[in-house]
Amino acid sequence: TMGLNKILAVSKTQDWEVVIGLETHIEVLSNSKIFSGASADYNPTVAPNTQACMVDVAMPGMLPVLNKHCVEQAIKFGLGINAEISRHSRFARKQYFYPDLPQGYQISQPANEPPVVGRGWVEILGDDGNPKKIFIERAHMEQDAAKNKHDMHPTKTFVDYNRTGVMLLEIVTFLDTKNPENNSYITSPDEAERYLRQIREIARALGVSKANMEEGSMRADVNVSVRPVGSKTFGTRTETKNMVSFKFIKTAIEYEARRQVEILENGGTVSQDTMRFNQGDGTTSVQRSKEDALDYRYFPDPDLLELEITDEEIERIRKTMPELPTATRARYINEYGLSEYDATRLTETVDISHWFD
Ligand code: ADP
Ligand code: MG
Repeated sequence: TMGLNKILAVSKTQDWEVVIGLETHIEVLSNSKIFSGASADYNPTVAPNTQACMVDVAMPGMLPVLNKHCVEQAIKFGLGINAEISRHSRFARKQYFYPDLPQGYQISQPANEPPVVGRGWVEILGDDGNPKKIFIERAHMEQDAAKNKHDMHPTKTFVDYNRTGVMLLEIVTFLDTKNPENNSYITSPDEAERYLRQIREIARALGVSKANMEEGSMRADVNVSVRPVGSKTFGTRTETKNMVSFKFIKTAIEYEARRQVEILENGGTVSQDTMRFNQGDGTTSVQRSKEDALDYRYFPDPDLLELEITDEEIERIRKTMPELPTATRARYINEYGLSEYDATRLTETVDISHWFD
């Protein structure tokens, strides 16, 4: 595609294509946190550490209690991305040590079991101008961490626990490694942006999240690999963590793709590293190599019951859902004869499509 040829212009001998996988975190709207009664209205104007309770700061003996509304939000989003809703799933502890994580583990859902939201898809405008399905592997519920503040004192870091325990939904795109002919994944920086905008649009239309990158209520980890055009296997990918701007995400993908092509064309191999993005010059650099990969020692959280969802609950939630951007777009095209482009622009935000209606 056009986008690709531009990226991979470094190549003289071989045509390359880029393969992109996104792990998108959205902060879910709810009155209280996913496992505690503290206010989940995390915003920078609230005084630090005024919305964190004993459960959030992990005082001994505190017990988490699952917030039903949070589960409903996950189901609603799952239906919005055409996904299977698991009738049965569990919560797990993902162990690591960091000052923004007072428990010493994050309550998430097991990486190797179906979470509450299973396989789904969204449709975006592909680089070739045709609608393209992007497959989603899963979306799971988890707790957000606290916020470390490094810029308040020359030698100290401050921690604000207000954000601790606000619910996140992590949405992971699917790569069909067993069937590489299946091209329902993101293959350019522009498609990555259109995918993220689509996720944002759906989350907002459903009232599931503000999904605002500037405010940090939407963040993405960006997995990038390259492979020779026509290759039947995928290349080794790198992962650039915690990206909070469409522009930087596109820059990071372009930079990573070029860097990997250069390595491969010089006879080297790409190493499966975790990268950091440097905003100043638009480059990436290694943050953690594969050898240092963390072992999270997931195990089912013994403080929480397993999550059972009935068909009736799913149907009840389905009935409350508004028309989603994909359907609105189709209505504008079919009923008003708008172009695909105009219809896409008018459904980019809920406010605009309401105004247009
Ligand atoms: P992890 O949990 O280690 O981050 P996953 O296997 O869950 O890894 O993958 C995370 C994301 O990376 C998914 O969106 C997946 O599609 C994507 N991904 C996996 N392999 C590749 C690859 N070779 N190139 C690009 N993206 C990839
Ligand atoms: Mg990851």
